[in-house]
Amino acid sequence: MSASSPQDFHCRQCGACCRVPGRVHLLPGEETALARCLGLDVLDFTARFAALAPDRRGLVLKDKPNGACILLDDAGRCTAHAAKPRQCRDFPFSWRNADSAAVCPGLNQGQA
Ligand code: SF4
Ligand code: SF4
Repeated sequence: MSASSPQDFHCRQCGACCRVPGRVHLLPGEETALARCLGLDVLDFTARFAALAPDRRGLVLKDKPNGACILLDDAGRCTAHAAKPRQCRDFPFSWRNADSAAVCPGLNQGQA
C-alpha cells in the first residue's frame, strides 16, 4: 500500500467507499465523538450504530441491510462527517487495497 499524493486523488464524494463490504473499526473515544456529533448519548449511539468487533477487541460500525455503513445517508454522505473514524479519514491516503482503485473513482483521476 502506498500513500496517495494530492496529484492522484480527488474525492468525488460519491460514497462508494462507504458501500463496499467491510468493517469500520472504532478507536477508543471515537464512539464518544460520533455520539456527540449526532447529538446522542454514547450508550444510545453504541446500541443503535455499533457492534462488537468479530475479534471482540473494540467496536465496529453496523451495516445497513444493503451492506452500506449505517452512517451513510441516502445521498451518499456521511451523517457524522465531522467526527468520522480515523479509518475513514485515512482512506486512501494511509491505506488502500488491491480493490480500491476499482471502487474509488477519485483515485488516479487527477484533480478534474
Ligand atoms: S463512518 Fe462515515 S465515512 Fe466512514 S464508512 Fe461510515 S458513512 Fe463512510
Ligand atoms: S469512493 Fe473515493 S471518491 Fe468516492 S467518496 Fe470514497 S474516497 Fe471519495
